[in-house]
Amino acid sequence: MALLQIHDPSAAPTPIGIDLGTTNSLVAYVTSLGEPTTILDCDSEALVPSVVHYAKDGRVIVGRDAQKLALVLPKDTLMSVKRFMGRGADDAETRRLSTYQFAKSDGPVVKFEVGQGRVVTPIEVSAEILRTLKENAEDELGRVGGAVITVPAYFDDAQRQATKDAGKLAGLNVLRLLNEPTAAALAYGLDSKKNGTFIVFDLGGGTFDVTVLSLDDGVFQVRSTGGDTQLGGDDMDRALAHHVFASMQADASSAAPELVRAILDASRAIKHALTANETVEADIDLPGGKSFAARVTRPEFDALIKPIIERTGPTCRRALRDAGIEVAAVDGVILVGGATRVPLVREFVTALFEKEPLGSIDPDQVVALGAAIQADLLAGSGPRDEVLLLDVLPLSLGVETMGGVVERILARNTAIPAGAKQVFTTYADNQTGFELHVVQGERDLAIDCRSLAHFTLKGIPAMPAGMARLAVSFEVDADGLLKVSAREESTGIEQSIDVKPSYGLSDDAIEKMLLTAYEHGEADVATRALREQQVEAARILAATKKAVESDAALLEGPEERARIDAAVAQLEAAVKGTDHRAIAHLIESLDETASAFAGRRMDLRIRQALTGRSVKDVADESAHAQGIEAHLGNTK
Ligand code: ADP
Ligand code: MG
Repeated sequence: MALLQIHDPSAAPTPIGIDLGTTNSLVAYVTSLGEPTTILDCDSEALVPSVVHYAKDGRVIVGRDAQKLALVLPKDTLMSVKRFMGRGADDAETRRLSTYQFAKSDGPVVKFEVGQGRVVTPIEVSAEILRTLKENAEDELGRVGGAVITVPAYFDDAQRQATKDAGKLAGLNVLRLLNEPTAAALAYGLDSKKNGTFIVFDLGGGTFDVTVLSLDDGVFQVRSTGGDTQLGGDDMDRALAHHVFASMQADASSAAPELVRAILDASRAIKHALTANETVEADIDLPGGKSFAARVTRPEFDALIKPIIERTGPTCRRALRDAGIEVAAVDGVILVGGATRVPLVREFVTALFEKEPLGSIDPDQVVALGAAIQADLLAGSGPRDEVLLLDVLPLSLGVETMGGVVERILARNTAIPAGAKQVFTTYADNQTGFELHVVQGERDLAIDCRSLAHFTLKGIPAMPAGMARLAVSFEVDADGLLKVSAREESTGIEQSIDVKPSYGLSDDAIEKMLLTAYEHGEADVATRALREQQVEAARILAATKKAVESDAALLEGPEERARIDAAVAQLEAAVKGTDHRAIAHLIESLDETASAFAGRRMDLRIRQALTGRSVKDVADESAHAQGIEAHLGNTK
């Protein structure tokens, strides 16, 4: 018997955790019994392949169906876009992955061409994946509350901002971005230990990440990270595919793309089967109706993948060295990522760290489960404790000073949210402006760091060098996003900016995307604008009519009256329509038409006030008149 769940419509929306992966993504939540659980899609699968297909008819297809279409319509199908999050067209990583169809980009963000002249950014593509996860969650939970989205620990400000923007675009209320290794540690409940040093070994489809995480009094700190952006389960698929080609006595380098695809897909299936079986026999369907009977044993497979797995060794040792710890000091090793299911990977990790790794939680799901736990904590339904303070700054933040030297304001590994202030002074006499260059990174020279933002503080009075006092404050919120403000202390001149990393999108661009993203988004925004203008118009119309009646004597003849009446009539007609821009325009012209009249009324009130009438009378009358003055007199 199937058990159907019944929603309580009055229940609070359920917070969710999302692992937005390079290869696969998934969403989880904490049940009413306190158990973190992944949400299954309509095919009863938790993993949604991070693949997006843009169909000719304008539809967008996400996940397994998109993955199938990648074979036939590769140009309209985007995979692994996480690699491009927060990256510019000129980025080294972008250029290396040049197999993608890049569109000419007018801004600093990479764009892909996906057929029919359609151009999308990695943020929009990721938003499609997030939207699918959100819909899957809504199907199961009814209403979805805030979301925690995970990011790799090494993600910089631009990459984090891009991820957050994608969440926003998907209509999610992003409570927090959480480091993937921290999420995995939370899923294992390691935060209850209060102290310890842990290794998170994450081998995914195409990326390998290792993180040394320390837990100090319940606060997780990333001690060091390392990895290889070109190492993962896909490499095992390729190694096995070469082996299959060899046993078919076929040449992989001259094979048709469809044949290569078919063998690669079969190899992945064989790899998965070899995780639980010692020998796998498979009939591989080849294009053209033929098939090939492949037989692979675990030892054969292990020999093929050994060199791939061994590449993780030096990276792990370097991460330990960077964190300044010995293998013996490691309290636990967590396996993350689908490729860590491969038995040889587990053996290798056990030997490397000299202890059995924690692998009881499905390594595909562990990050999403940890994110769900964090979302639940943030939403306040779980026990509130200090786990709120979970993360640290991945890279130092500072400003460029004379000579291109970086002055660090917030050091790497500072627990966030965090703030710090530093005072600078002028270098030259009579300097009337400061140019602030905000950078991120560990290097001493600004040119070696990542440039986040430039801004200028102008209008400082000329002073001898060294007299001006410029206080620069950095504030980093819980997501690792930065706000910079600068204040010249002797004059009080100040300015602040939200640092939109140079590779991110402008607010305008995001707003535009938000508009086009929601099915009825544009209509909703227009309706709201219309309501606002109608309310404003009603207020102005009432005030004007009243003023014209009570102060008719102040009107300069019938012409002025006629002009105001005409403007009133036009506005009244427009208010009945639906064009919010027309209403705004007519409010402005009524304002202009009546401004001289409003000025005379104001003068009269002042004169009356000065000729001995009681203050209260004047106050009453001018309060009455203010409705008009506020709109007719003062908007210029
Ligand atoms: P990412 O973090 O990059 O999104 P995942 O953690 O989902 O990736 O890992 C995907 C990889 O895990 C793929 O290479 C996939 O073939 C591999 N994988 C998944 N399940 C198994 C399994 N049972 N045995 C071996 N490899 C697996
Ligand atoms: Mg992953």
